[in-house]
Amino acid sequence: MGLTEILATNRLFERMPMPTPEEFMRDYLREHIEAEKRELASRAPFREKFFTGECYFDSRKGTLEAWESEKIASVSSSDTGAIAITELIRKLHSRVLHQKHRYHLQLEGNRWRIQCVDSNCIICKGEAVKITCRFCHGTGWRSGNPGTTDADARDE
Ligand SMILES: [Zn+2]
Repeated sequence: MGLTEILATNRLFERMPMPTPEEFMRDYLREHIEAEKRELASRAPFREKFFTGECYFDSRKGTLEAWESEKIASVSSSDTGAIAITELIRKLHSRVLHQKHRYHLQLEGNRWRIQCVDSNCIICKGEAVKITCRFCHGTGWRSGNPGTTDADARDE
């Protein structure tokens, strides 16, 4: 293989890097914050026209801070998918909730995409003994996609 081919091959790899699930999640968390900032900026004139600064309704108050606090706790992967669990802090009025998200990542060709995001059950805290929990059925997780989990299947 000549130098030209080697350089061309290297460029090809540079152009199509295969990100790890961790890299994908770091990109996602950073861009999630940026997307929320754009959302708030685009809504600002509407909020200013119709609401006082103290009105909580539909204000997205605390959302940006929650996304800014979100950190990767663990990532595990298989041939076709990965699971990433994150931890975040959400402030609701005077309450401070320590939440977890469970991201189901799907490999599509050369890239990852999020297929579903579950939230930890804040009602029973996922304690297995509380299998009667009607929110998570003792799994500790509430599916972000209705009808796709074992817990949801048990509802039917
Ligand atoms: Zn529960």
